[in-house]
Amino acid sequence: MYSFDIKTKIRFGEGSLKYLNSIKEKKVLIVTDPFMVKSGAINKILDNLNQLEYEIFSDIVPDPPIEIIVSGIEKVKNFKPQVIIALGGGSAIDAAKAIMNLSKKIINIEDVEFIAIPTTSGTGSEVTSFSVITDKQKGTKYPLVSDELLPDVAILDSELVKTVPDFITADTGMDVLTHALEAYVSTNATDFSDALAEKAITIAFEYLIKAYKDGEDVVARQKMHNASCLAGLAFNLASLGLNHGIAHALGGKLHIPHGRANAILLPHIIEYNADISGYNQREYSFAAKKFANISKILGLSSSNIRVAVKSLINEINKLEKSMNMPMTLSQCKVESSQLTSLESEIATLALNDACTIT
Ligand code: NAD
Repeated sequence: MYSFDIKTKIRFGEGSLKYLNSIKEKKVLIVTDPFMVKSGAINKILDNLNQLEYEIFSDIVPDPPIEIIVSGIEKVKNFKPQVIIALGGGSAIDAAKAIMNLSKKIINIEDVEFIAIPTTSGTGSEVTSFSVITDKQKGTKYPLVSDELLPDVAILDSELVKTVPDFITADTGMDVLTHALEAYVSTNATDFSDALAEKAITIAFEYLIKAYKDGEDVVARQKMHNASCLAGLAFNLASLGLNHGIAHALGGKLHIPHGRANAILLPHIIEYNADISGYNQREYSFAAKKFANISKILGLSSSNIRVAVKSLINEINKLEKSMNMPMTLSQCKVESSQLTSLESEIATLALNDACTIT
């Protein structure tokens, strides 16, 4: 038996922040990163809180480390919020998830409303049961996995994404594509996760480059915001794979931004999973057939599965080049000596990562 449940209420499009008006007589803790406060973006949230009592915890940094989660728990202990709002990219949302979940002994988390407001279009964390936390001492990233981490509400308002610089738009947009493609070829994929993944992929191929070229293009921004959420729903149902397993290891050891690590790996992982190089088998793999189907949906079609998979890989390379993305680790300023010394550690971490083994 398979199942398809969505716990999180999704509000999207212009004016969706008005959902916050419905919060009444409650203490609100906003978990965010310093940019949201410095840029004034946080006022878009505060303006909709109808003068509720609030506190702001704005210490979140990319790839949030355990130490910041611990200070967040201290904040919860002192303030005892009834609502937690996570405002920011995947790092702020993941940190808020971990803070909330690890505060179980301090507050009854079932009574706390958890609202996620993404400000990047990438991770889909607003609708997933994952939270990725970094152990800086060990140089590792851990995906925590539990349905208790799912937000109650996700608000997708493109107004908050317009300030994302082009290179972060590229990184996070490629994260969307990687989520959707890994979910699509997962052995846990179903018609339901496929529907979500296919839509995320077609939107990303049409709108990512537009959002990259013109950050103020509200239509492209909202489309990518929706695609990110659709891809999150898809991989939350079907899980991810080796691409993410290696990306987490690269992020923990070499501090490469998550979406960028995924983007560098993606063409290679597609080729590996499709198993088409030197093809001489009787039947194409499950992954090859599914990648070929994506090629067909994107209009890159070829009746030959091997050619169709190659066309998809070419299209991804073209998209990454058009966004001036680094295509190799050396273009991310990773020295080959550095890589050689960490090679076996990265391989072990990737093989044991929750995304690789599910
Ligand atoms: P991020 O949250 O780390 O943010 C990257 C940078 O973008 C930060 O400097 C931040 O201040 C800035 N930023 C965010 N919003 C902005 C805005 N509107 N305008 C200008 N700058 C803005 O980046 P991310 O890619 O969204 O999240 C990455 C993290 O999420 C990684 O730790 C990754 O492992 C994790 N992740 C989680 C899931 C999940 O399901 N929980 C899935 C994929 C990735």
